[in-house]
Amino acid sequence: MTAPSPPPAPTDEVVRICRDLLRIDTTNTGDPLTSVGERVAAEYVADQLAEVGVTSTIVESAPGRASLVARISGTDPSRGALLVHGHLDVVPADTSEWSVPPFAGEMRDGYLWGRGAIDMKDFDAMVLAVIRDWQRSGTRPPRDIVLAFTADEEAGGRYGAHHLVQRHPGLFDGCTEAIGEVGGFSYTVSDDLRLYLIETAEKGINWLRLHTRGRPGHGSMMHDDNAVTALCEAVARVGRHRFPIVVTPTVRDFLAEVSDLLGIEFDPDDPESTIAKLGPIANIIGATVRNTANPTRLEAGYKENVIPGRASATIDCRVLPGQETQFLAELGQLIGPDVEVEHVERQPAIETTFDGALVDAMAAALRHADPGARTVPYMLSGGTDAKAFRQLGIRCFGFTPLRLPAELNFSALFHGIDERVPVEGLQFGVNVLDRFLRQS
Ligand SMILES: [Zn+2]
Repeated sequence: MTAPSPPPAPTDEVVRICRDLLRIDTTNTGDPLTSVGERVAAEYVADQLAEVGVTSTIVESAPGRASLVARISGTDPSRGALLVHGHLDVVPADTSEWSVPPFAGEMRDGYLWGRGAIDMKDFDAMVLAVIRDWQRSGTRPPRDIVLAFTADEEAGGRYGAHHLVQRHPGLFDGCTEAIGEVGGFSYTVSDDLRLYLIETAEKGINWLRLHTRGRPGHGSMMHDDNAVTALCEAVARVGRHRFPIVVTPTVRDFLAEVSDLLGIEFDPDDPESTIAKLGPIANIIGATVRNTANPTRLEAGYKENVIPGRASATIDCRVLPGQETQFLAELGQLIGPDVEVEHVERQPAIETTFDGALVDAMAAALRHADPGARTVPYMLSGGTDAKAFRQLGIRCFGFTPLRLPAELNFSALFHGIDERVPVEGLQFGVNVLDRFLRQS
């Protein structure tokens, strides 16, 4: 007779599971016809949970667009549940640009390489490794934990989190708080000081389409009512405009704390000079002190010598919390009266405060694993599934703990070439997440 082998340690399982997930190509092109793999990934997650006795629900919003939800019951059912969410899809990767095949899950130089390694199959794997370990040892969390593994985050979540929230809100009954991307990663200040940025706010998304109309005509003739000319004037005014600096509570707290820790001066009237001194995270923070409106698409005409009767352009606007009305008024002034404005996508900004027991539990779990850890709140200039879950009244944080080597340019890896996660960082993350969830 052989003794049963001991159960695998979560620090080993997290690596195996992350690798398995990286090998499932879940490319989200933004077009349901060419997006792949979400169903396969959701079934993989379901199997990993079923193996340790957790039943889950797979929800398909359209053929193949699968998300998974499961509930782990806590010891105190009177408390609100904690939602832990991660998306399963990834942005496309062009193999010719990469040093390794992007969907092979290669291990090299202490890193696990592949599209999704930090965005965000790393966290998906941490969650599964912790829950599998708990199930094997009979550990129960203090309150219910709802797990959500979503489709379509990379294209706005219409087929994933937004579908779940609109069509299956009952799956999230009782959830009061949530953790998901993008936060909990380290920024090294010195050997004994690392900042862990916790996301407490996200800018809003407003995608606008501008339409102009004019008199169609022959390209060889005098013409003073040209839809293309009128459109381009409006687009250029918007594109060249710099919106004024607005320092929201989250960004003020972040800059004050970080300036203090770094020993640099923080002038609230000139936050950009402080941000410029932040090195690799300047990119992330820089877009959170003003609203932005970037022209991204143009459409007009069908022949060289025909003046078209209409033209259109898309403007990608990112708006600070509490600023939407003022922003749209300012934008309207720039665009002018003769341009029709169509709202094609609107996801309002979200912001919560950096306080309470959950925030304390994040700091404590990080400090236990890294005595040099300091947590600071920050605002993400992009959007995540948190915008969908916020609609259920859930207080959302970006907290996917990851300790990073000082020299790694983390923000460049998001949607970047040679995306990879340090294996030690993954193992650090699983330990922090385990401790955090036990105390949440
Ligand atoms: Zn992501």
